[in-house]
Amino acid sequence: MAVPQARARGWAAAARVAQRRRRVEGTGGPPRSEPASQRAALYVHWPYCEKRCSYCNFNKYIPRGVEEAAMRKCLVTEAQTLLRLSGVRRVESVFFGGGTPSLASPHTVAAVLEAVAQATYLPADSEITLEANPTSAPGSRLAEFGAAGVNRLSIGLQSLDDTELRLLGRTHSAGDALQTLAAARRLFPGRVSVDLMLGLPAQQVGPWLGQLQELLRHCDDHVSLYQLSLERGTALFAQVQQGTLPAPDPELASEMYQGGREVLREAGFRQYEVSNFARNGALSTHNWTYWQCGQYLGVGPGAHGRFVPQGAGGHTREARIQTLEPDNWMKEVMLFGHGTRKCIPLGRLEMLEEVLAMGLRTDVGITHQHWQRFDPQLTLWDVFGASKEVKELLERGLLLLDHRGLRCSWEGLPVLDSLLLTLLPQLQEAWQQRTPSLVPGG
Ligand code: SF4
Repeated sequence: MAVPQARARGWAAAARVAQRRRRVEGTGGPPRSEPASQRAALYVHWPYCEKRCSYCNFNKYIPRGVEEAAMRKCLVTEAQTLLRLSGVRRVESVFFGGGTPSLASPHTVAAVLEAVAQATYLPADSEITLEANPTSAPGSRLAEFGAAGVNRLSIGLQSLDDTELRLLGRTHSAGDALQTLAAARRLFPGRVSVDLMLGLPAQQVGPWLGQLQELLRHCDDHVSLYQLSLERGTALFAQVQQGTLPAPDPELASEMYQGGREVLREAGFRQYEVSNFARNGALSTHNWTYWQCGQYLGVGPGAHGRFVPQGAGGHTREARIQTLEPDNWMKEVMLFGHGTRKCIPLGRLEMLEEVLAMGLRTDVGITHQHWQRFDPQLTLWDVFGASKEVKELLERGLLLLDHRGLRCSWEGLPVLDSLLLTLLPQLQEAWQQRTPSLVPGG
């Protein structure tokens, strides 16, 4: 590893002190001096899992053995390359996702963080999240991740019903999940998130809400609710096709989601995004960057990033996708310093579409100030203020457009996808109609 150990240990120790000192309050952080173009979040993808879950179509691999030293070196190299390319001076959060990153050694996590802290400013109290599966993350291992610099855990609990966990092909039981959750809360108080799935085949609303109530007796300050999506190519999809399992019922899933939102609201959680709920200000600042269309770098096989490559003389934000397959990705990183497979420049209209679709996922929506950062000339009022279709959504109480900006109401958030079917064409039309002098090059 190219990073001096003394400095590295210094960063991890400082991070632990900062973790004790500070709990995340809202989405705020310490004062930022760097312009937005020099700040980013960093996502690190660990592509390996122990076993294939029956519903999963993520980019993951079940290896016979992992050459972890080689993988570590490549993750570090790619992080250094992308940081250099992006000209990013401050990394505000790091998220180790997968795959199952809790199968990686804490040494690998530490090496990546050390490399980031060496190449840029990584504040000691930055949010550093690790996704952990209950079976690969007993308490002692979680403590080692904490020593490596991790200060937030996202636990893939998925269900508190052993039959459902078997159906999903998970390697843990409900008992394992609760044990891991308890250990995680002792080590990272106030900074543990749990994922719970809904809409499974044959799942009923009452028992699922019972699971959520049970979870509330054990969980910390952050819960994510995800609806199962039946993906072609997965074992679960085949079972449903063959008729050995009933197809998930979308009506029931929507009842579960609605009921889950109510239960969490009563328990003091703020629904700050379509799938995410937090109390005591425990929002995920990393994911907030995605919804605010901030810059992020994606490191590791199949990782996605979005940033302006200033080091390469670029001026336009690019969507970057890294090579999917780990062995090929490693070869490319060893040859070129990074494994970027696709690099797509994003036009200004595309950016605005993202700002709209991502921002409306959150409870604050899109403020006028936020929108202006991406388009100082075409205001939210210009785009949506005169539209009959939008007026109808406002009158139905699904959407709000006022002095703060544009956002979904409590009733509108669950039907965001259908709202976007009206809003996106409206934006496209307003973009076409803007006076030529406002269009770059026009
Ligand atoms: S642990 Fe996660 S990434 Fe791995 S197979 Fe299961 S769902 Fe997919």
